[in-house]
Amino acid sequence: MSDMARPVRLRDDLRDIAPYGAPQLDVPVRLNTNETATPPPDAFMHALAAQLPTLTLNRYPDRQHRDLRDRLAARVGKTGDELWAANGSNEILLQLFQAYGGPSRTLMYPHPSYSMYPELARTTLTRAVSFPLDEGYQLSKDTAAKAAESLKPDLIIVPSPNNPVGTLMSHDAIRALHDHSDALVIVDEAYIEFAAKEATALPLMDSLERLVIVRTFSKAFRLAGLRLGYLIAPAFVIDDLQTVRLPYHLDAIKQLAASTAIAHEDTFLTHRRQVSDERERLTARLRDRDDVSVYDSAANFFLLRCTTTNLFERLLEHGVLVRDFSSVAGLDGCVRVTIGTPEENDRFLHALTAVLETTERTGP
Ligand code: PMP
Repeated sequence: MSDMARPVRLRDDLRDIAPYGAPQLDVPVRLNTNETATPPPDAFMHALAAQLPTLTLNRYPDRQHRDLRDRLAARVGKTGDELWAANGSNEILLQLFQAYGGPSRTLMYPHPSYSMYPELARTTLTRAVSFPLDEGYQLSKDTAAKAAESLKPDLIIVPSPNNPVGTLMSHDAIRALHDHSDALVIVDEAYIEFAAKEATALPLMDSLERLVIVRTFSKAFRLAGLRLGYLIAPAFVIDDLQTVRLPYHLDAIKQLAASTAIAHEDTFLTHRRQVSDERERLTARLRDRDDVSVYDSAANFFLLRCTTTNLFERLLEHGVLVRDFSSVAGLDGCVRVTIGTPEENDRFLHALTAVLETTERTGP
């Protein structure tokens, strides 16, 4: 819309900003937003439907969502005072930025990583500075320590596994970020349920007093449509968030759905094995080719690099939607592929093969 058509002027720093978000296209194979392809278990849907009439929707919900916090806490060996939930982990991050970022505060985050981090910084008027990951998108403890010492951040955020590259952050690197700064250190574990059990930074919370962990129900929990994320943090952080959270931010239906999902946790997470098997099958097939490279991933997606031009658009012509990163610095020629059902993955493989065999290459 032109400026002439706007009766009120948008905040200056938000003008000319493209809204964040992956394309939502109606195509046969959607492998672009790292959801789980399998719907939630029937037993969960039925249990939720059966409980809906018990809700008193004329009243505001429990502002402190105590029952849900207690249930989430019990799963990770914490108390309800050390847990907090919100509408997706994005809202948790926003609340953390509102409380600990802001004017005269600095966020430090690695590049490449989740592209919402600088967006959240901008919205909350936080200065954002990135530092480059090491070779192979890894983070060594030396690089972590040097970045924290030189940039002196108030807020540090690292995703583990890292979206879009799939790598885990080592415990040594996380400890270095903490010990070489005074910052609140946020480990974003949106995809952690797909990784090995010992990958989580949770045990580090016992010795690192400014470490917090953010997780979501959108990925392994197959509930992206529910919009639920949660924070595991020392009680003082949860306390601080009360100053920025909106009253009744978590609606009653969501609180009920999330508690019901936790009660069905075992059936919810059974598909993780299929996801990792499929990830290994796909990446092994691609490693056989010399015209693409794939990166190891601990998540439900992987990064693929190739020299073919317009890979994203060409796959789309075959009805396969992936996430295009080819114009992002350091990710030239890259797309990110979410693991789908075996049938969707086969369609992706066929489409990729067709594209690679018909497209002129731009490099060696
Ligand atoms: N963190 C990372 C690393 C992500 O990739 C995403 C979603 N793509 C999120 C947080 C936000 O997820 P949600 O708000 O659905 O919990």
